[in-house]
Amino acid sequence: MALRRFRADLHIHTCLSPCGELTMYPRAVVEKARAAGLDIIAVTDHNSAENAAAVGEAAAGTGLTVLPGLELATEEEAHILGLFEAGTALGELLAIVYEKLPDIPSKRSFIDDQVIVDAEDCVTGFNPHCLIGATRLTVYDTVDLIHRHGGMAVASHVDREAFSIISQLGFIPPDLKLDAVEVSPLLSFDEARAAFGPLSPFPLVRFSDAHRPEEIGRASMDFFLAKPTLEEIRKALAGRDGREVRPA
Ligand SMILES: [Zn+2]
Ligand SMILES: [Zn+2]
Repeated sequence: MALRRFRADLHIHTCLSPCGELTMYPRAVVEKARAAGLDIIAVTDHNSAENAAAVGEAAAGTGLTVLPGLELATEEEAHILGLFEAGTALGELLAIVYEKLPDIPSKRSFIDDQVIVDAEDCVTGFNPHCLIGATRLTVYDTVDLIHRHGGMAVASHVDREAFSIISQLGFIPPDLKLDAVEVSPLLSFDEARAAFGPLSPFPLVRFSDAHRPEEIGRASMDFFLAKPTLEEIRKALAGRDGREVRPA
C-alpha cells in the first residue's frame, strides 16, 4: 500500500482550557493548523474534550484530520494525553473524569474561561468543572481509562519542570503501558532524544502544546501512513507494517 507523509501536531488546547487563549476557537485553530502545513491535529484540552467535535466539524472539507483527545491531570499531577480515533464519543469517559475532579465551589470568573463553542465559533456554554485541577486517578488508572476507551496514552512534556511524569515521579515507570512519551518544543528532537531516549522505553514524540494560535505546529512529527487515522499512527509508533514516524 502506498504511504503518504502526514504532518501531525497532536497536542493543541482550545478556549475550553482555562489557560488556553480565548482566541483558540475552532475556525482559528483549523486555519492556523493548515497555514502551518499540518495534516492531522489532536484537540487536547485539560480534563475535557467538549470542543473537539466542533474543531472536527470546522475542519470538514479542508483536508485537515482532527482527532479528539484530552490532557488528563493525574493524582500525582502528571499530565497524560489521551488521543482517540476521529468520531469517538467520549461522553462516558468525560463523566468518569468529571467525577474524579476536585469538588470546589464554582468561581464565576474561572468558569468564564472554560468556553464551549460550536463549529461556527459561537459560544454555546461554559464548563462548570474544575478543569485546572488534578483528578483522583493515578497514572496507572489514567492510562487504563484511556486504553479502555480505545485511545492512545502519551506522557506530556516530560522535559518540563512541572506537571510531567518525570517531574512528579522522578522517572518513567517501565510497566506503565504508555504508547509514547512527548517532549516540549523547548528542546530540539535531537536534544530530547539524547536526554530522554535512555530514560524512556517508549517512542518519543514532540508536539506544540499550543495554547495560542501562533504556537500551533511549532513542534510536529511526520507520520508515513496509508491514511490519517489513530490506528495508522499507532502502527507507525510501533514501527509496524512499514509505517514510520520522524521528527518534522
Ligand atoms: Zn500539560
Ligand atoms: Zn497541554
